Amino acid sequence: MSDIHKEIEENIKKQQSIQPSSDEKVQRPKAGFLKKAATFTESMVSRGLNNNKAEPVTIELRQLSCHGDPDKKLPPCADRKDSVKFPGSHFCGACGCGDKELTQLSPRKLDNGQDAYYKLEYPKVHCPLMMPGFTNYVPTTPGVSENPRKKFIEFSTGIEYIRENSK
Ligand code: SF4
Repeated sequence: MSDIHKEIEENIKKQQSIQPSSDEKVQRPKAGFLKKAATFTESMVSRGLNNNKAEPVTIELRQLSCHGDPDKKLPPCADRKDSVKFPGSHFCGACGCGDKELTQLSPRKLDNGQDAYYKLEYPKVHCPLMMPGFTNYVPTTPGVSENPRKKFIEFSTGIEYIRENSK
């Protein structure tokens, strides 16, 4: 078994007891009201009037970061919360934006049968944990920020690929 695969195996074991870890808290920037307003505005501007969307590969990486992947034994982010307003969907419990139509992390249908525009589709969108796929992605820094989920995605997908496609 290669070193990378050994590391992935170890990370899977860590994930089984995963909770918002102290590491995640350390690397989570304290977003004040102005910062939140600025990132929300950036997202809205990037969406524009034509409902612009991020590239599918970018959305895929964000999906992995938020929702995990049962096939890879990667659990959902501990900060992902079940939506009460939109059953079956989820929202980010860490960004402070709450359970609203614009903040849903999961694809869903509107009453008219069309696909709802959801948060992971914005061309620019920030993650409090700076996870792969998001505009503010920051790679794992050994000894400084060791989020096991981020590390797992980086090992299984490749940091260069993530850098290129985190927009
Ligand atoms: S946006 Fe980031 S912190 Fe929020 S649920 Fe997704 S991965 Fe977790």
